[in-house]
Amino acid sequence: DAPTLSTDVAIIGAGPTGLFAAFECGMLKLDCVLLDALDSIGGQCAALYPEKPIYDIPAHPAIEGGALIEALDRQIAPFAVPRLLGRRVEGLEGHRGAFTLRTDKGDVISARAVIIAAGAGAFGPNRPPLAGLEGFEATGAVQYYVRRRADFTGTRIVIAGGGDSAIDWALALKDEAEKIFLVHRRDRFRAAPESLRQLDEAVAAGRIEKIVPYQLHGLHGTNGTLHGVEVATLDGDTRVLEADRLLPFFGLSTDLGPIAQWDLDSIRSTIPVVPSSCETSLPGVFAIGDVATYPGKLKLILQGFSEAAMAAHAIHPIVRPDTALHFEYSTSKGVPG
Ligand code: FAD
Repeated sequence: DAPTLSTDVAIIGAGPTGLFAAFECGMLKLDCVLLDALDSIGGQCAALYPEKPIYDIPAHPAIEGGALIEALDRQIAPFAVPRLLGRRVEGLEGHRGAFTLRTDKGDVISARAVIIAAGAGAFGPNRPPLAGLEGFEATGAVQYYVRRRADFTGTRIVIAGGGDSAIDWALALKDEAEKIFLVHRRDRFRAAPESLRQLDEAVAAGRIEKIVPYQLHGLHGTNGTLHGVEVATLDGDTRVLEADRLLPFFGLSTDLGPIAQWDLDSIRSTIPVVPSSCETSLPGVFAIGDVATYPGKLKLILQGFSEAAMAAHAIHPIVRPDTALHFEYSTSKGVPG
C-alpha cells in the first residue's frame, strides 16, 4: 500500500507522554506523527479529569488535567506535528529502521522508529450491567466522566462507587447539584482521609445522602430521560432514588487491544522496557508512560515525561546514523521551528 504518511517516528497515543515525546523528537530535529484512537489529544487527563487539579507536576503547584494538555499542545506548536486522531493503530510490522503501521481507518504510516505511548490502551469505563443502559448513555443521563461541572447545575445525581473518584465528584458537585445520592455496596468508603472528612461534613450538612449498602439495580425513565435509579441490597430489598443523572465510578477497564497481538513482550496490559532507553523487546520500538514497565516504575506523568526524553535520544541514532548527537540544553539551542 502507498503510505498515507512517512515519518521518522510514529508516536502511538497523544496523552501527556505522547505529546511530550513529540516535543523531545522536535528538539532533536526528528519528524514525528501523533496517532490516537480518541478524537482529541490529551489521553486520560483530557478525557477523564479535565477539571481536576494535578498537584505533582514539577513547578506547577496545581494544574488541571485540561490545562496541562493545553500547555503541552502549545509547547509542541513550533514543530507542527501532524496528528491522526480518531484512528486506532491496529497493525505494526517491520524492523528497526523500517516500520509500517496501519490504522482502523485504513491509514498506512511508514516510520523508522515507533514510540508506544498508549497508556492504559484502549481505556474505557467499567459499565454497570443495567437493562437499557445504552439509551441513557446516548442522552448523557448516564455519564462516566464529568467534563463540565456546569452541566450538572440543579440536577439530582446518583453517584455510584466507593473509591476516590466517586467521593471526589460527589464533593465537587455538591454545590452544583440539587441533590446527590452516593451509592456504595459497602458501609465503608475507600478514599484519602481528607476526602472522607469532607464527605462526613457534607453528609451532616445534608448536601450528600449516603445510600449504603446498596448497589445499582435498574434505571427508570423513557426515551433516554432518567427519572429514577433503582438500588438493591444484597438481600434483594429495593428502593428507587429520584434522580435525573447517574454517574457510575467503577474504575477503568484497561486493554492493550491490538498492541497485545504485536510481536513484542507484554505483561498484563504493560510492556516491559529497558529502563535506560525505554526500548521494548522489539528493536526500534519504544514504550513510555503508563504502558511501559520496569523495576521501580511509577505510573506518574512526570516519569512519563522523562521516559519520553530517553526514548527520543535513543531513537536519534536509528534515524540519523551518520549524525552524532551532542547533548545540549534547551537553553543553549532554543526551540528549532
Ligand atoms: P494516557 O493518558 O492513557 O494516553 C494514552 C493514549 O493512547 C490514549 O489517548 C489512547 O486513546 C491512546 N491509545 C491507546 N491505544 C491506542 C491505539 N492502539 N491506537 C491509537 N491510540 C491509542 N498522574 C499523575 O502523575 N498525577 C496525578 O495527580 C494523577 N491523577 C490522576 C487522576 C485520575 C482520575 C486518573 C484517571 C489518572 C491520574 N493520573 C495522575 C494518571 C495519569 O493521568 C496517567 O499517568 C497519564 O495520563 C499517562 O499518560 P500516557 O500518555 O502514558 O497515557
